[in-house]
Amino acid sequence: MSLVVQKYGGSSVASLDHLRRVAQHVATTARNGDKVLVTISAMGEQTDDLLNMALALSPKPPRRELDMLLTAGERISAALLAIALDDLAVPSLSLTGSQCGILTDETHGNARITQILGGRIRDNLAANRVVIVAGFQGVSTQTKEITTLGRGGSDLSAIALAAALEADACQLYKDVAGVYTCDPRSVADARLLPRLSWTAMTAIAWGGASVLHPRGAHLAAKFNLPFEIRSSLDLTRPGTRIHGSAALERPQTIALAHKRGMTLTTYRLTAADASSSLAQVLSWLWQRGEAPQVNQQVLQQDGSIDLTLVISSSLVSDLEMILDDITAPKPGHWQRLNERQGLATIAVVGQGYKQSPETAMTISQGLYGTLQFIDVSDQQILLGLSDEHLDHALKVLHRQLIEQMPAIN
Ligand code: ASP
Ligand code: MG
Repeated sequence: MSLVVQKYGGSSVASLDHLRRVAQHVATTARNGDKVLVTISAMGEQTDDLLNMALALSPKPPRRELDMLLTAGERISAALLAIALDDLAVPSLSLTGSQCGILTDETHGNARITQILGGRIRDNLAANRVVIVAGFQGVSTQTKEITTLGRGGSDLSAIALAAALEADACQLYKDVAGVYTCDPRSVADARLLPRLSWTAMTAIAWGGASVLHPRGAHLAAKFNLPFEIRSSLDLTRPGTRIHGSAALERPQTIALAHKRGMTLTTYRLTAADASSSLAQVLSWLWQRGEAPQVNQQVLQQDGSIDLTLVISSSLVSDLEMILDDITAPKPGHWQRLNERQGLATIAVVGQGYKQSPETAMTISQGLYGTLQFIDVSDQQILLGLSDEHLDHALKVLHRQLIEQMPAIN
């Protein structure tokens, strides 16, 4: 008998009808003789609705209370699914993250899972019950508080649970059919990718494709866990399978991911403790779930640090307030050297870019005059350009690097 982990995102459980459909699918899987562990997100846009209620009451809600509030969304959908399964005569049980021992660090709003105990899950699976775990949440061993794993974090709950319980299959049901070579809203010829390596998926997610939590594929790779991203609209359709690595000599581009609304900014941190200011800035960003697309630190001869970041524009003014706070005892100890707003980034995700520079050359030629920066590493080429050139650039790159190249698998 095998263990199947199924994750249903917000769009798959947006209404009671959706929940009934999910219950049917879970029931079919259970009746086929598999043990089923479900991780579920809050219904539809409920997390945003709850967040907006908090923001209507206070511009800066305490992060502990936000986590108490937002985790309620997942608890509702988990209990409702258990009720729908009961109506189908399928024995099941819903559990919160803390009830099943999903232990995390203490970072409210972007906690990292440290351990999964899972005793209650194992006991209930053994008793032939479907176990439904409220996604995106855990409990901090240090503070004993309820934490959330970051927006979209139910993906992490599913992958971590599948790894901890050594599941035979891990299926994430989403409002898309799988992972595409580019966002189909920008490039009509984008293709569904049947298979991807963990590394490529990680780069695509950090690059801006919202199809998976950016920490998801990395977590799966650590545990050698293959997983699938599938359509919640057509529950039986195979989507994209993510596993393994791919190593080939010739450069190959797999997909393009992008982000809009970015700002490039350079700060000089002049305090004697510039390195501590730097650490505080990066940790503040991390707590907001932001991993800068560019993060370059250059030490100057006088000990100051020039920090260049490409981050979401919406964070810039808060970040500068934090810099003021950090350097408050020494006013004037940071300075903005440069700022460019209205940027977009494109992550060209693939492999072999270091050993064969031709892809970077093709890009520079094809986008000459619009590229603001290009940064080449072996499995990704990151491009910066102004927002208004983004759509055109995606089409050009998709044609040159994906459509016109023979696929290798
Ligand atoms: N409901 C949470 C969110 O919208 C978690 C999730 O969907 O995975 O971010
Ligand atoms: Mg959600």
